[in-house]
Amino acid sequence: MPFHARPDDDWIACPRCRAPLVRVARSGIPRPSCPACGFTFFVNPGVGAASVIRDAGGCVLLVQRAPGQFGAGKWCFPCGFVEWGEDVRAAAAREAREEAGVDVVIGDPVQVASNFHEPEKPTVGIWFAATLADPGVRPVPGDDAVAVGWFDPAAPPPLAFPTDADLLGRLARG
Ligand SMILES: [Zn+2]
Repeated sequence: MPFHARPDDDWIACPRCRAPLVRVARSGIPRPSCPACGFTFFVNPGVGAASVIRDAGGCVLLVQRAPGQFGAGKWCFPCGFVEWGEDVRAAAAREAREEAGVDVVIGDPVQVASNFHEPEKPTVGIWFAATLADPGVRPVPGDDAVAVGWFDPAAPPPLAFPTDADLLGRLARG
């Protein structure tokens, strides 16, 4: 496993009771642990969900990322973090609605991958095939997106995420 900075590297006090933290190895990894109250912090990747929406001609719906985001100005599938307690498919549908203004029906996963484009914030991404609930709907950018568009998978615009590029390459090859 390559080294990645951990958000807990510089933690010194228990977030629950404020006692000094020690590092205790669990599964071979030192975890911030509190001798006073028993709190142990396990850091894990975030989980992202994306919708892969294709039109009748095989073009995919992509969104252009807004300023201030990773990859601002570049493009990606509608995607975002799964909220705590939220179903992963519901998250994919919510992001399509928020970023592209479309209601979708979520289908099968078409890609699962670890993302290391931000080494300090690794994530696991799940890309779902998705179809427009209303095929005649006109996508509109919202939330974290400044533009939306349909693109040939073989000729995408500049992409924010290498894993989106992997998937588009596979879609382009059929
Ligand atoms: Zn504590």
